[in-house]
Amino acid sequence: MTSPRVLPAPHASSLDLRGRTALVTGAAGGIGRACARRLAAAGAEVRAVDRDAAGLDALAEGCGDLAGGVTPHVLDLTDLEAAEYAAAGTDILVNNAGLQLVRPIEEFPPDVFHTVLTVMLEAPFRLIRGALPHMYGQGWGRIVNISSVHGLRASAYKAAYVAAKHGLEGLSKTAALEGAAHGVTSNCVNPSYVRTPLVEKQITDQARAHGIPEEQVLTDVLLRDSAVRRLIEPEEVAEAVAYLCGPQASFVTGASLALDGGWTAH
Ligand code: NAD
Repeated sequence: MTSPRVLPAPHASSLDLRGRTALVTGAAGGIGRACARRLAAAGAEVRAVDRDAAGLDALAEGCGDLAGGVTPHVLDLTDLEAAEYAAAGTDILVNNAGLQLVRPIEEFPPDVFHTVLTVMLEAPFRLIRGALPHMYGQGWGRIVNISSVHGLRASAYKAAYVAAKHGLEGLSKTAALEGAAHGVTSNCVNPSYVRTPLVEKQITDQARAHGIPEEQVLTDVLLRDSAVRRLIEPEEVAEAVAYLCGPQASFVTGASLALDGGWTAH
């Protein structure tokens, strides 16, 4: 048992992205899937990128009723040339793909550190690099980087993840400064723990390992620094992404939008 699920607001902003293209990385996962669906619901033609072909197929099958479309694009983002090429021509870029390893620095495998930095920092750089010529050419573009509370705060045993997310914050701000004159905004979204399969599994595993109820893992471990005592839903993150792609947010750039239940207010 985890905290009660909060459904996305039924009055979610009436964003109109018909005629726009979007590329979402990590679209087979919890947050990427919600972002792809939200942007397609607003009418965008979404290129859903992930290395998980089955996950992409499942996503695309469930999107037939949306105003826009979702097209699967199987790609391993460690192929940086392919990543840059894939981003050409997109109006909206959501850098979301990520992975995590929890290990003390002295035991952290250097090859995993390298892979995390490649997927979560270097690939976003290459995707932005690939997307900008088209965005600049038309004088409009939206870059949304799914960072984390760990882009703003460190936690022990997450060296690669924290380093990559802090780097992503810098990349996002630099893109904001360079893109402003061309109608391109770049922002980060910074969630704390999101209810994705990854986190649900962590709750179950930790409860079993410690012999404590799942509710106690939530309160004592995951939600320890959160003033709002619940997980955030992927749909709530997707709604923040939608906001950053909408006309209300044209002056919002170089920002880091904390969706952290007050974690960074400490
Ligand atoms: P997830 O594991 O459900 O999804 C991540 C997706 O990235 C997966 O579908 C995976 O296949 C894909 N991916 C990983 N490596 C790849 C590669 N080399 N090439 C292509 N695709 C690759 O995780 P999620 O919880 O949805 O996280 C998405 C993003 O949100 C990540 O950047 C993560 O850091 C961030 N985030 C998550 C949480 C959370 O609590 N879940 C909190 C803050 C930020």
